[in-house]
Amino acid sequence: MTPHGSFETGVYSSKNDIYSESRLTLMSDLRGALHHNRTQLHYQPKLDLKTGQVVGVEALIRWHHPERGWVPPIEFIPLAEKTGVIKHLTRWVVDQALNDLKTLHQVDPALTVSVNVSARDLISSELKGLFETRMKRYQLRPDQITVELTETAAMDDPEKGLAALEGLANTGLKISIDDFGAGYSSLSYLKRLPATEIKLDRALVQDIDSSESSRMIVETAINMGRGLGFQVVAEGVETEQTARLLQGMGAGLLQGYWLCRPIALSELSNWLVIERQ
Ligand code: C2E
Ligand code: CA
Ligand code: CA
Ligand code: CA
Repeated sequence: MTPHGSFETGVYSSKNDIYSESRLTLMSDLRGALHHNRTQLHYQPKLDLKTGQVVGVEALIRWHHPERGWVPPIEFIPLAEKTGVIKHLTRWVVDQALNDLKTLHQVDPALTVSVNVSARDLISSELKGLFETRMKRYQLRPDQITVELTETAAMDDPEKGLAALEGLANTGLKISIDDFGAGYSSLSYLKRLPATEIKLDRALVQDIDSSESSRMIVETAINMGRGLGFQVVAEGVETEQTARLLQGMGAGLLQGYWLCRPIALSELSNWLVIERQ
């Protein structure tokens, strides 16, 4: 199903009607799936371009609906944000990801995990308390966890969002600005947000091997990010040539299908063992 697929077909539903029956059903199904642990996390590794080591993994939610099959995050995350279900989703993701990191530490004790958090749930949920209780439960340190923040421009209440973010940063958690260079993200975030990492958006990165202007934009972004003291991650790297170009430009970390697709925890453990040989 496409994002503009059958959701829009009802006589009384419009494109912006988030409360159409099928959408509400989808959201109640999602809440049920989260509650019964029927959602999963997949993990995508991050490679340090200087050392050639895998240093961390990003947690990405996966949901297999009994009738609809796999529903891509792009189809339920925005809806979850609008309806408030994101609060439950984030709670589940943080708990699962930190628990899984503990497991992964048996393979590599230096691994870190990145968790995606939306700007909207930064404001509504008690994220700081959530991370603190789970870090305690799984005996993890805050510097082993990165919070990836997407859609910074969509912060309903920028003051409150910023305060929440500073609260997280003060506990020692790392903050990453996701999708940097995409949509409405702006340079002013770099000054305002207490972040330590920027993730260059896939759309920017993907065609640097074919487009001179993309190459220049990415190189400029890397230099600026590094100059300001950020860890710079390039996402969506699909080819070896792109990886080499990024390394030459001084990008710090890399993520993408070229290295590894997002995979289940059990697969990841095996992958990590093979990767280290
Ligand atoms: P994102 O955080 O920017 O995650 C990267 C997306 O790009 C993931 O899609 C990943 O599977 C995909 N990807 C990774 N490498 C490549 C590549 O080389 N080529 C291409 N074409 N794609 C690549 P996914 O898992 O479908 O997630 C889409 C978005 O949904 C994420 O974008 C994130 O914004 C959101 N999302 C996913 N999981 C969560 C979650 O647990 N919580 C929240 N709040 N949002 C999530
Ligand atoms: Ca992300
Ligand atoms: Ca991203
Ligand atoms: Ca994204």
